[in-house]
Amino acid sequence: MKKKKWWRWDGRMRLFLTMELAVVLPAAALIGFSVWKLHSIQRDKVIEAAIQRDFQRMLKVSEKRLVEEGYALLQAVRADFPSPEDRLGPALEEVLANHPYAAHVFLYDEKTGLLFRSQPGRMEEDDFRRESEKLHAGIRWIKTETEYLREQFYKQKESGYPQVYTMPTWAPRKDGRGYQIVALFPLPKFPSERVAVGGMVFDSEYLTEEFFPAVFDKLLAKDFAERSGGGKAASSEVAMMVRPKGMKKPLATSAGWDAGKPEVERNIEMSFPGLTLAIKFQGTTVAALAQEFQRNALLVIGGLSLFLAGGILLTYRNVIREMGLAKLKSDFVSNVSHELRTPLSLIRLYAETLELGRVQTPEKQQEYYGIIRKESERLTALINNILDFSRIEAGKKEYSFTDTNLSVLVRDTLESYRYQIEQMGFAFDVRIEDNLPRMQVDREAIARSLLNLVNNAVKYSQGEKYLGVNLYRTNGLVKLEVIDHGIGIPRSEQPKVFEKFYRAGDSLVHNTKGSGVGLSLVRHIVQAHGGQISVESMPGQGSKFTIALPMQPPAGPPGATA
Ligand code: ADP
Repeated sequence: MKKKKWWRWDGRMRLFLTMELAVVLPAAALIGFSVWKLHSIQRDKVIEAAIQRDFQRMLKVSEKRLVEEGYALLQAVRADFPSPEDRLGPALEEVLANHPYAAHVFLYDEKTGLLFRSQPGRMEEDDFRRESEKLHAGIRWIKTETEYLREQFYKQKESGYPQVYTMPTWAPRKDGRGYQIVALFPLPKFPSERVAVGGMVFDSEYLTEEFFPAVFDKLLAKDFAERSGGGKAASSEVAMMVRPKGMKKPLATSAGWDAGKPEVERNIEMSFPGLTLAIKFQGTTVAALAQEFQRNALLVIGGLSLFLAGGILLTYRNVIREMGLAKLKSDFVSNVSHELRTPLSLIRLYAETLELGRVQTPEKQQEYYGIIRKESERLTALINNILDFSRIEAGKKEYSFTDTNLSVLVRDTLESYRYQIEQMGFAFDVRIEDNLPRMQVDREAIARSLLNLVNNAVKYSQGEKYLGVNLYRTNGLVKLEVIDHGIGIPRSEQPKVFEKFYRAGDSLVHNTKGSGVGLSLVRHIVQAHGGQISVESMPGQGSKFTIALPMQPPAGPPGATA
């Protein structure tokens, strides 16, 4: 016996290779490339670096802005400071009244000494009073440092910087947010040779609750959008905060700041020493954004791949089915030709014999005429089957339903074949219930269905020759059963026998003439009557085909096109 190769160079193999080369390979390459690209995007730190640069620039701008705004406030206070002729004490109190953001102001003059005033309205608060006392005591060092300060101011003036000397200090506050700035400055209304220094302390609550948040929000609302030219870190998604250097907890934040890790930080050197500015995306981080982008892209690619795989599978299955059908069709043509040939040659043989006058006895003649008639009937039946089938395929099959006594129809149809069937040696067992209701059926079609089933039962019976036909009513249905004790149909093939052109793989079947359209025709007819056909069968034991018709006719007018 020839050894079977594990593969065969047939249509299936060719199709498989074509799909593999034309669809699967490019698709797989595309998917692979996209995934690889995604990974390299993640590794690619260029984007991240660009965002970091953007953020750094924003922080620089913010620092400048904070310093400018802080200085403007300071200037306003300084301009209100008195001249030597004024009554200094009341003048300082007026400064406080005019500038609520100044918690304390003080003036040191060689002549008058140190004058220190705090916001009178807040002196009832314990924290504030202690703050005032602490500052008042602490600021005394100024007396010994005037020369140093004057030198600083002079240098600042020479190099065009604002003349101010700032120091951070911590006011006693329970929440630890008592950041303050002490600012010292020369007095504009005092003669420059006179040793005098003015000072103010920014109100700690004002700084953390008003000043910083307001500057942040102004920056984020407008300035960044313009300055960063709508850069990668578009300002509306950004949040900022300021915290004491070395501490995690923010002192003040812009709107939208969450507890997440800052993306970029910057220590403020001038004006607000001891503070660190921080910036981040609202509610997310650059790394999380990158991850999310990657995850989304992977999801999309995954989804597309699934679609692609599904599409390929469907195409493959469809093409395989079409190929199978094409093969069945070509088998059908040769099957039909074979089936036509046998009755034709018989008819010719007997007709010729009769024509030559070689048949002596009238009985023999009768027998030959009978054979010719029988074979022509077989031909007619076969051709009708095929014509019907092609009408159905073209969607042109029409049924004409008429009021029918099914018992009579079945009995008459069988009777005309009884002799023939019994001649072939079949035990023919017909049980027909008589008092069935009349039904709307296409008589010719139902008779043809029955004959197809009977014909199959006869064809596919090898050993025990038994043919049973039952007609009875049950549960609102009329059932017509055709039973044989023939070769049977394997379970796996049972649903397929109703498909067009399908013939079971059994070699016994292939030795039997047939076209593979009979059962598909029967199924169509039965369904057009609103009924169903089913099969029970065991290989080697026989088969039972059952047509179940509803006693109520199907909806729609009789004679409808099916
Ligand atoms: P065919 O012309 O081949 O008989 P059918 O459509 O009538 O075509 O039947 C389809 C196939 O179903 C047959 O080829 C055969 O394999 C199987 N079959 C039909 N009826 C029987 C039966 N009574 N016993 C066993 N096999 C059957």
